[in-house]
Amino acid sequence: MAAEDQFKKVISHAKEYGYVFPSSEIYDGLSAVYDYGQNGVALKNNIRAYWWKAMVQMHENIVGIDAAIFMHPTTWKASGHVDAFNDPLIDNKDSKKRYRADVLIEDYVGKLDTKIEKEVVKAAKRFGDQFDKEQFLATNPRVVKYKERGSEILARMGKSLENEDLADVKALIEELEIACPLSGSRNWTEVKQFNLMFGTKLGASAESATDLFLRPETAQGIFVNFSNVQKTGRMKIPFGIAQTGKAFRNEIVARQFIFRMREFEQMEMQFFIQPGTQKKWYDHWKETRLNWHLSLGMGTDNYRFHDHDKLAHYADAACDIEFRFPFGFKELEGIHSRTDFDLSSHEKFSSKKLQYFDHERNESYVPYVLETSVGLDRMFLAVFSNAFQEETLEDGSKRTVLKLPAVLAPTKVAVFPLVKKDGLPEIARSIVNDLKWDIETAYDEKDAVGRRYRRQDALGTPFCITVDHQTVEDQTVTLRHRDTMKQQRVAISELSDILKKEVSMRTWLERI
Ligand code: ATP
Repeated sequence: MAAEDQFKKVISHAKEYGYVFPSSEIYDGLSAVYDYGQNGVALKNNIRAYWWKAMVQMHENIVGIDAAIFMHPTTWKASGHVDAFNDPLIDNKDSKKRYRADVLIEDYVGKLDTKIEKEVVKAAKRFGDQFDKEQFLATNPRVVKYKERGSEILARMGKSLENEDLADVKALIEELEIACPLSGSRNWTEVKQFNLMFGTKLGASAESATDLFLRPETAQGIFVNFSNVQKTGRMKIPFGIAQTGKAFRNEIVARQFIFRMREFEQMEMQFFIQPGTQKKWYDHWKETRLNWHLSLGMGTDNYRFHDHDKLAHYADAACDIEFRFPFGFKELEGIHSRTDFDLSSHEKFSSKKLQYFDHERNESYVPYVLETSVGLDRMFLAVFSNAFQEETLEDGSKRTVLKLPAVLAPTKVAVFPLVKKDGLPEIARSIVNDLKWDIETAYDEKDAVGRRYRRQDALGTPFCITVDHQTVEDQTVTLRHRDTMKQQRVAISELSDILKKEVSMRTWLERI
């Protein structure tokens, strides 16, 4: 319940401070579609830029593209999406609510995980410094039982889904006595498959129109451009193609704010490799991507890997990087070893060669692919929800603060004149005019300084500068740090260097 309340506060804070609005809100919104406001767009752009820099700019052998959202309809036959991009859905007959059958089962297993976490917390308290978490997880009978039970359930679900045995998925839901969270009843329909692609039409008249799909992932835009990029960029394997852009899925259950949207943005990279080397690259990209997340300093304990029990039709290995969202550990990013499935399939459907001539081995082959795929909106939610905190200060007063990683914050620094006179606004303005070339900078002169600090805390601005009467004397200002609320006296001439270092992507990415 506490977590639910916390999540509600996160959502209302996102709206109140111009981060995320429900789409077309004046018409009561559109389910699972959201707009980003004046601060949201800046945070989103910064996350995208942080990803792009780490993936494209810092890798000599990774380049970017921007493919169109509309693609030739055969693309989706070849990719398997027309036949296999389905989710198993189930309806509760009493509440008339629709659920993803696999998610209901995963949530059940998630509850077993929560029980394990509780046992760990209890034991840690009991054993104090002597506590060995690894050993406890491996040997405590209750924990071992929960883990085994969870694995058994997921393995059975994975097998049933793979074999299209939807009757067994329903049987599993019944055996686990899973009830509808809304009605509390176990009165379920059969499990059915539901295709997630949005269809649309291209063309002026109804007769000549072609049926198209809005792309459900950005990856296919990369595969169909494999040869274009490889040849024009003279790329040598191993190499990667990266892309960020919108994807669309008619999600059955679209709840949890921007966690699961019908229109969302992905940041994907397809890494083309020699067949047989996929295990090495799979491990490499798992580690590299986790380190990218960790560089943001949002807590090592908030991430974990989750291996897929049910592999997609294209994969020979797959895992998720999960993040501890306010509603529990959930997928943030997928790392997939996609074999040569996509390129081979496009070769077949297009009758065009999508191969690579390896000069060293003197042979042609269809490359294997390692994919890293992270949702930009999900990343936004991870960053935003993790940053949101309500603190009680030493003097008993409360403050709401968004402890966003400084590198991602929409506004990096806000500059205040202490009072609106005595030449202080002019000095503050001149500091803004200097800093804004390199750093997102705001100016604020309204209300008492204390209130201005609180406003910037709630917006997530990591630094505030106050210009006071001493500034006129000695050209120094107060630099205040959002997280510690500590203040230091700094020369105006030093501000730019200090701040640039604090917020530069280099500083943050070098931690990897
Ligand atoms: P899920 O199991 O949550 O439906 P998925 O396994 O279908 O996700 P992928 O196809 O691997 O997701 O997509 C890669 C990434 O895109 C996900 O890790 C997630 O961050 C993001 N993503 C996928 N679907 C959505 C969505 N509906 N809304 C927001 N982000 C999404």
